[in-house]
Amino acid sequence: MDISRKLEILADAAKYDASCASSGTERRTSRAGGLGSTTGMGICHSYAPDGRCISLLKVLLTNACAFDCLYCVNRSSSNVPRARFTVAEVVGLTLDFYRRNYIEGLFLSSGIIRSADYTMEQVVEVARTLRLDHGFRGYIHLKTIPDADERLVAEAGRFADRLSINVEMPTADGLAKLAPEKDMGAIRRTMGRLRLRLDEKAAEPRSPRFAPAGQSTQMIVGADASSDQTILQTSAGLYAGYRLKRVYYSAFSPIPDASRVLPPTAPPLVREHRLYQADWLLRFYGFGVDEITETADGMLALDIDPKLAWALRHRDRFPVDVNRADREALLRVPGLGSKAVGRILASRRGRTIRAEDLTRLHVPLSRVAPFVILPGRSDARRLLDLEDLKQRILRPQRQLSLAL
Ligand code: SF4
Repeated sequence: MDISRKLEILADAAKYDASCASSGTERRTSRAGGLGSTTGMGICHSYAPDGRCISLLKVLLTNACAFDCLYCVNRSSSNVPRARFTVAEVVGLTLDFYRRNYIEGLFLSSGIIRSADYTMEQVVEVARTLRLDHGFRGYIHLKTIPDADERLVAEAGRFADRLSINVEMPTADGLAKLAPEKDMGAIRRTMGRLRLRLDEKAAEPRSPRFAPAGQSTQMIVGADASSDQTILQTSAGLYAGYRLKRVYYSAFSPIPDASRVLPPTAPPLVREHRLYQADWLLRFYGFGVDEITETADGMLALDIDPKLAWALRHRDRFPVDVNRADREALLRVPGLGSKAVGRILASRRGRTIRAEDLTRLHVPLSRVAPFVILPGRSDARRLLDLEDLKQRILRPQRQLSLAL
């Protein structure tokens, strides 16, 4: 099989891993005319620790996996074309694309070949060859295989910028049902070992390099009946227990010849989006999982973002005074992001903030009006009491500003 066919198969097989912000857009191609395509696989975008967006060659070493995880198109019983790169082929492609300025790094994962250790050895060998034999200075993200030997994990961290290990399902029961060869205990043990090594490196800066961009994971959403509350509780536990950089949420996509225990359709994509918003609220806005998911079924609303949903359920906590409220209270105002709150806190040290100042502070008055007190405006309490406040907020912004 020639290398471009392998690339076609193995880049396409890697697209289900969500640790890549460019996955999941609508399908457009230039075959019928026009310019550009979103259907080609192989290059994804990720974010460096300093916030830069970087493009990565995103491939599997092989999609011929020994495991049979029901939700995965690469499972051993799946009827898909198989391919396997040699270490030299992945190294060659990475260098070639890098020299042509197509990519700034590599995102490498793999199906299980023979055993965890054998697979990990191959993955590490790619990174080792790139770094030591070719002096490659670009970004490398490696998937870590659960329960791979400690020595291989240390080697992976020496050459990779980021390591990740996919927790896959929100619960151990869900994983046992859909991926019987995987073991939540092994996944968590490996996460714990990565955490320990990251801590050792932080405590002893002169010790060998270890994954400076930390570790992340991915959870599949909608392959089992786990509620958003369960998913977010798992995320909160992972952030607290292993201080992960990110949990990525990947909406389950139906696969050919799927098992009947899987749902026949994908969950709405907006569910994935709401989980990312909720995840952000947990990490940067001081919300707890129970606050965000205090609904009867533990599910996030799909029609409004979780912060607005919380505010509408807790109107008694509003309005808050823009000129007096503490940072925590301001962060809970729908329409105020953490940067806007920072600008408000800095600005009000020198002067009283009025409604007309909000534009300068990049705060949409129409969005925050029901939730804040500002000098000269007395309409917040009246707006908060409106029964149709949610509908008014959901209307287009121009109409909203007139209505409020
Ligand atoms: S281990 Fe499971 S999830 Fe990973 S490639 Fe193999 S079948 Fe897919």
